[in-house]
Amino acid sequence: MPGEGMRKMAELLRSGARMLSYNCPECGSPLFQLKSGEIWCASCQKRVVIVAEDEDESAATRELLWESLERTLVEKLSSVNGLLSAEAEPAKMRDLAEVISLLLSSLDRLRRIRKS
Ligand SMILES: [Zn+2]
Repeated sequence: MPGEGMRKMAELLRSGARMLSYNCPECGSPLFQLKSGEIWCASCQKRVVIVAEDEDESAATRELLWESLERTLVEKLSSVNGLLSAEAEPAKMRDLAEVISLLLSSLDRLRRIRKS
């Protein structure tokens, strides 16, 4: 009932609650912070717990970066592997093997970072 929700919100504001820039994850109504510090949805008539959104977002961004980096490293390994198998000159083979070694240790470090 939208009318009812509006009335409850007005009541909350009158009681000193502060309207937040967050919306209720369940009904989408604006959330209020009560004087007690609790976060309240006037429509659902219940307490809402907000997870630190910024933190969440940066963790998700980081995870995407790790995934993309891992994909890149694997792709590079695969292309250097192709070069190495076609290479006949020992000096060039050594260079390519060095690149492979670097890529492998980067991959290893990346996987350790992601696990921690
Ligand atoms: Zn709600």
